[in-house]
Amino acid sequence: MIPGSFDYVVASSISDAVSLLQQHGDEAKILAGGQSLIPLLRFRLASPSVLIDINRIDGMEYIQETDNVLHIGAMTREAELDNSDLIRERYPILLDTSSLIADPVVRNWATVGGNLAHADPGNNHPATMLALGASVVAVGPDGERVIPIDEFFTDNSFETTLHPNEILTEIRVPAPTDRSGGAYIQLERKVGDYAIAGVAAYVRLNDAGQVTYAGIGLTNVGPTPIKARNAEQFLLGKALDDASIHQVADMAAAASQPTSDTRGPAEYKRAMVRTLAVRALQKALGRATGGE
Ligand SMILES: Cc1cc2nc3c(=O)[nH]c(=O)nc-3n(C[C@H](O)[C@H](O)[C@H](O)COP(=O)(O)OP(=O)(O)OC[C@H]3O[C@@H](n4cnc5c(N)ncnc54)[C@H](O)[C@@H]3O)c2cc1C
Repeated sequence: MIPGSFDYVVASSISDAVSLLQQHGDEAKILAGGQSLIPLLRFRLASPSVLIDINRIDGMEYIQETDNVLHIGAMTREAELDNSDLIRERYPILLDTSSLIADPVVRNWATVGGNLAHADPGNNHPATMLALGASVVAVGPDGERVIPIDEFFTDNSFETTLHPNEILTEIRVPAPTDRSGGAYIQLERKVGDYAIAGVAAYVRLNDAGQVTYAGIGLTNVGPTPIKARNAEQFLLGKALDDASIHQVADMAAAASQPTSDTRGPAEYKRAMVRTLAVRALQKALGRATGGE
């Protein structure tokens, strides 16, 4: 279908984008990579009267590690994560995540900020960022605020706590510690498709091998990205052995809220969460203890 008509404006800076959002209010939408927004316009599922293009704002595409924090500019393309040595060496869970998104053409355009701001439960980054305990930076008319990722997604599908006059500018991820590791695994019908189900797991261990931090996020098995809080809590202080991994995988499956659709019946998806959680935790443990 052909999208409805809209005005198109190009923001020259972050403050210009914020002023334009102020000026146009709910009628406006930010255009980043366009890989989710343009299909919505074409299906007339969204009909903003103004698109504010932020692609020409300088300085919003970067991947930097400083002061034990990884900073990812909101306009960083998935392809840049795919090709970053820093990501490959220090944050392999992010490479797991980006490399499973669609295909290289989509990944050349799609941005990490857009992937989160769209809040699609089927998108990969929300689960991973929930597991990592990331935060996002939002800039609005009153300046900058930092939002922990578990306060970013609301209970409604495709909704975040970003205000209509705010732009997401950066994603912050805690740097890995000595004994930490994570992995993202998904099941898909064919390469490049959205996940039938996906699980992100991230753990930090002490010298005795006990879990001091556990993050578990789920993709496409509920109306919103899901943080499996009970499962995370359960792991604290425990060793990641076969028994605890299987027990926590059951808890992750219990946290999922899948519905039956063309990707499969709800029970199948719940069973897949269990299996994927086992695999993601085993892989996270391997990475945390020096293996792949
Ligand atoms: C064929 C296909 C397959 C795909 N498969 C997958 C997949 O398997 N997994 C997956 O995770 N994703 C998938 N995607 C989605 C893709 O990753 C999207 O591009 C991404 O979700 C949105 O990023 P974008 O930069 O394209 O944002 P846009 O489409 O430009 O914007 C999406 C939404 O976010 C808002 N927004 C964007 N950036 C900002 C910002 N900085 N501040 C405030 N609001 C902002 C926009 O206003 C809009 O509402 C697929 C897309 C396609 C076309």
